[in-house]
Amino acid sequence: MSTTLQAVRGMNDILPDEAERWEAFEEIVRDWLRAYGYRPIRMPLVEPTPLFKRAIGEVTDIVEKEMYSFEDSLNGEHLTLRPEGTASCVRAVLQHSLLYDGPKRLWYMGPMFRHERPQKGRYRQFHQVGVESFGMAGPDVDAEQIAMCQRLWDDLGLQDVRLEINSLGQPEERARHREDLIRYLEQHQDKLDEDGKRRLYSNPLRILDTKNPALQEIVEAAPKLIDYLGEESRAHFDGVQALLRDMGIPFRINPRLVRGLDYYNHTVFEWITEQLGAQGTICAGGRYDGLITQLGGKPQPACGFAMGVERLMSLWDLAHAEALINSPDVYLVHQGESAARMAFRVAEGMRDAGFSVVLHAGGGSFKSQMKKADGSGASVAIIIGDDEVAADQVSLKFLREEREQIRVSCDDLIEHLGEALLGFTDD
Ligand code: ATP
Ligand code: MG
Repeated sequence: MSTTLQAVRGMNDILPDEAERWEAFEEIVRDWLRAYGYRPIRMPLVEPTPLFKRAIGEVTDIVEKEMYSFEDSLNGEHLTLRPEGTASCVRAVLQHSLLYDGPKRLWYMGPMFRHERPQKGRYRQFHQVGVESFGMAGPDVDAEQIAMCQRLWDDLGLQDVRLEINSLGQPEERARHREDLIRYLEQHQDKLDEDGKRRLYSNPLRILDTKNPALQEIVEAAPKLIDYLGEESRAHFDGVQALLRDMGIPFRINPRLVRGLDYYNHTVFEWITEQLGAQGTICAGGRYDGLITQLGGKPQPACGFAMGVERLMSLWDLAHAEALINSPDVYLVHQGESAARMAFRVAEGMRDAGFSVVLHAGGGSFKSQMKKADGSGASVAIIIGDDEVAADQVSLKFLREEREQIRVSCDDLIEHLGEALLGFTDD
């Protein structure tokens, strides 16, 4: 009996066509990171389980229900496939005393593992590009990391990605807010869902970013952390906003943006698109000044973000599909042997002049060629048949505008194309 073996549910093969696109993406990412002085680091995929419990927090989705944890059958060690990169990165930085000679800017890329319900944009093995800075406390670092993201979206030609930011303040400010929040949520306790009830006292802040529509009204009216910020936290947040404005990066303050991981303070941010359905967050990050001490190091500020590569690739695909519609400039349709030869010459002449041209190949009726011309997204079809050959002329059919077909001499073709495609006349 033979059974076909399958990949683990939620873990995907990346086949050659796609893998080549991933490589192209990775090249862009490496150049982009170099431009900001970030250096690569590579950590193991498996870490001691207590690392994530300590770094991420016991009462989080990740630690409560998403980790692939197991016991090493040879020595009984408790191990976990990394669900994210920040904890490992901090562990490596501390283990190798990387901060002994000053601040560091680091990045990594690779698979992460979370036992979630697989769906579009949500997998059990997925990939992140993670970016972390250590030893720099000011709002300039937060703002630069946000600006970096904007540049990457521009480099990739992504559109309609919006930025949301918030401040989580400092632990004392969160504590005061927490008290009021618990008091408020207690009044609505009967309406909370199971997660909400469980988190009411352990992690009430997380109730605020619930996706349960039934809780939206309660959550909307809850005390806002942002109203509890002290002077210093406010100044930090104002500093980030001022720099974003200087750089012309639009943002929206979302007081309910609290992030899934517990180690954040001050700035948090997310980049969101509406083009990918429910899984619309492509990048998330913020400041986590408390994590290094939480993992046993001397206090050092830190700030970072991670983006989901699968979601970015989907968005990149969409951006490219749209870009394709604009090219080529011309589709060249031809019929007959001498027309074919003339078409070659005419096509090269147009390319010399800087136009992109698809020269039809493979024969077929005039009608079927015109169909291909239309499907190519070209603005203009150029038609060469026996008549055109005899007169040393070509016909121009405008595919995207209501305009009469014209017949022009080969000598005048470039001029007509310039007028038709670029909107100028060559006087
Ligand atoms: P979500 O709310 O979508 O579960 P998260 O808060 O768990 O996201 P982070 O831990 O901040 O996500 O991870 C950063 C980014 O990694 C996310 O914004 C997303 O783009 C991506 N990501 C997270 N989990 C997955 C997953 N299971 N599959 C694919 N991408 C993911
Ligand atoms: Mg999640």
